[in-house]
Amino acid sequence: MPVCERCSEETLMTTKSYFNAETICMGCVKVERGHPDFQKAHEAEVEQVIKKNFNFEGVGAPFNLKELSATARLERAEIDKIASRIKT
Ligand SMILES: [Zn+2]
Repeated sequence: MPVCERCSEETLMTTKSYFNAETICMGCVKVERGHPDFQKAHEAEVEQVIKKNFNFEGVGAPFNLKELSATARLERAEIDKIASRIKT
């Protein structure tokens, strides 16, 4: 199974980050899109695509992005644990 390059979680679905060249899971996409610097990263990507540069590496990940993604991963695991307790 593919592994998210940002939070190391195994995942079936991945996509490319707008901040850098990492292939990330949908949980990390949510974190990335909610980051205050996302708009800037997205605009830079669009600008490069208009210039026909399809190999743009991104503006670089903000210093706290990896930590935020790791926290979100732990919270998702906690939610899964609670959900499995409810099911029984
Ligand atoms: Zn991830």
